[in-house]
Amino acid sequence: MKDVYENDILCKNCKKKTIKKHIVRDGFKIRTWECQKCGKIWHHPLDANEYLKFNKLKQKNFKVKLRKVGNSFSATIPNEIIEFEGIKKEGKLVNMQLESANKVSIILKS
Ligand SMILES: [Zn+2]
Repeated sequence: MKDVYENDILCKNCKKKTIKKHIVRDGFKIRTWECQKCGKIWHHPLDANEYLKFNKLKQKNFKVKLRKVGNSFSATIPNEIIEFEGIKKEGKLVNMQLESANKVSIILKS
């Protein structure tokens, strides 16, 4: 299936061909078409939808229990987040760091 982004969009107001660009929001690359004349921007529908899904997920607060595993502790990552990140199997190496005095961050994809 061809991606809609392969098409050129014509600005209805200016009758001019738009140019392809992208914007980055919260680490998300959203492909756009921009009219050079009037400045109107169209977002790629798939990218915009992913960003919407991300925003919904971001607002959720998950409560997970710390569990002792050997000499360490583990906290589980909800499946909703794992699915959103497109992780299919276990065993993947991720990066973790103490971000601030009371916050640990895990970088799932590099
Ligand atoms: Zn225009």
